[in-house]
Amino acid sequence: MIKGNKELRRYTTIYPKTVTTINSWNDYKNYGHKLLKQSNNSKLGKIIGKGAFVKKPLYSLSLVEREMGCPKSCHHWDSCYGNNMPFAHRFKTDKRKKVFKDILLTEIQDLLKKHKFGIHIRLHVLGDFYSSDYAWFWGHIVGRYPKLSVYGYTAHSPKSKIGHTIKVAINMLGFDRFAIRFSNADVELSANSTEYKPRLLENVSLNPIVCPEQLDKVANCVSCGLCWNSNAKQILFKTH
Ligand code: SF4
Repeated sequence: MIKGNKELRRYTTIYPKTVTTINSWNDYKNYGHKLLKQSNNSKLGKIIGKGAFVKKPLYSLSLVEREMGCPKSCHHWDSCYGNNMPFAHRFKTDKRKKVFKDILLTEIQDLLKKHKFGIHIRLHVLGDFYSSDYAWFWGHIVGRYPKLSVYGYTAHSPKSKIGHTIKVAINMLGFDRFAIRFSNADVELSANSTEYKPRLLENVSLNPIVCPEQLDKVANCVSCGLCWNSNAKQILFKTH
């Protein structure tokens, strides 16, 4: 049984009281906290334990599921795991305004001064890239700051305008630093639900790997790192 108000599930989170709108620096001041949260989620973990990004702390950003960036075609529109996150702080912004990106940039610059190994950001625990311009913002700042890297999943099609921007950023920066996987897509470097059956060319196998955390083989993402490893062509997730 899918949780929450059916009407809200048509377009936004089922937890509207957890949403903060950031359309100005004043909104940000009134909110009184950071947009980028240091991970305290047991699934993600806190500090990267291996690989090229070892010792980087993990931060995350959550937008409002369904309302901020999620394409209607998302396989998990109704069953979004945000339905099980009553306490997550979620942000929304006027997609035409620049201020949300300006605030993120300021936070990132401060964090890069604080953490000498750099930072790794999980985009987006909830929500998705809400415009091509916003996707390009991330590509641009990862390019500008060598100690910044991001990973996450997008439900946008690789053929969409936003998907195209993400692919350009990956090609430019390398997947390891801009590790955005296409969800439920018939492409390399995807992240699919176990029930999703990609339509691949004959004789092509992406050697899918089931997320080891879901199989209790690793404690969390920071001790795994497969999602930002370009050798893992396809990660499978058991449906929540
Ligand atoms: S495959 Fe590894 S990095 Fe990816 S979600 Fe699972 S535990 Fe996290």
